[in-house]
Amino acid sequence: MNQTTSSGASGPNAPAGKVWLVGAGPGDPDLLTLRAARLIMSARLVVHDGLVDPRILAMAPAGARLISVAKRRSRHSMPQDEINALLVREALAGGDVLRLKGGDPFIFGRGGEEAEACLAAGVTVEVVPGISAAVGAGAAALLPLTHRDAASVVSFVSGQCKGLSDQNWVGLAGVGRTLVIYMGLATAAQIAEKLIADGLSPETPLAVVENATRPDMRVLRSPLAALADLVERERVQSPALIIIGAVTARAPSEIRQVALEAIK
Ligand code: SAH
Repeated sequence: MNQTTSSGASGPNAPAGKVWLVGAGPGDPDLLTLRAARLIMSARLVVHDGLVDPRILAMAPAGARLISVAKRRSRHSMPQDEINALLVREALAGGDVLRLKGGDPFIFGRGGEEAEACLAAGVTVEVVPGISAAVGAGAAALLPLTHRDAASVVSFVSGQCKGLSDQNWVGLAGVGRTLVIYMGLATAAQIAEKLIADGLSPETPLAVVENATRPDMRVLRSPLAALADLVERERVQSPALIIIGAVTARAPSEIRQVALEAIK
């Protein structure tokens, strides 16, 4: 099995290359899988999002082409159908394409859409999983997403769905449950209002984890009712996760501090 070769040939008659949909994890390069690291270190073409840590991009060979299709709520991000077309075009031209995404490609990464577009065009796709932000944030903040005494269900939700109405949020948070919200900063106030209107106690503890696993990580806590104030007062920046539930109140503050210092 050779996972790291790029097709040497290119041009109209070259055999088609392959698209690798690779998870880059939440930031810290040490959290890459070995397979992802090998692929990055031998890539000729890397198509990456804005969330991929610069230290990871720096692992690509000097001669590799790096194309950013930045998607960090940026005005300059490439529309998804153009990204799909780029992947297909490059693979059909004969070169392997490393599509590098923050976290895991299949957790809010649009990896499914890209895989479908490649398969529809007859391009082979392989997926390399990555550590999703929720899992990285839980570890870095010493915050177990499940705990026998506090939560036996964990849900991942996107806070960016239109008017928060694409999903039925009722029951996702509450006693015995952990709710992790991705892309929820811009809608933090509405999220808190909605959960409280659905019956969740305004006192429910939560944590906001900004830049999880990166040297500038912050872990901020508040009751649910104070979420919007916290985000504003602390000027929380993307990327950040909102984690709601009793597990967020468990890690003692001195352990949290050690966790933060350990990654500096
Ligand atoms: N595929 C990615 C998620 C992409 S959606 C994954 O599996 O992690 C982008 C959202 O992920 C951000 O808005 C933020 O909510 C979250 N995120 C990604 N990296 C993060 C990090 N290092 N710290 C906190 N949140 C992060």
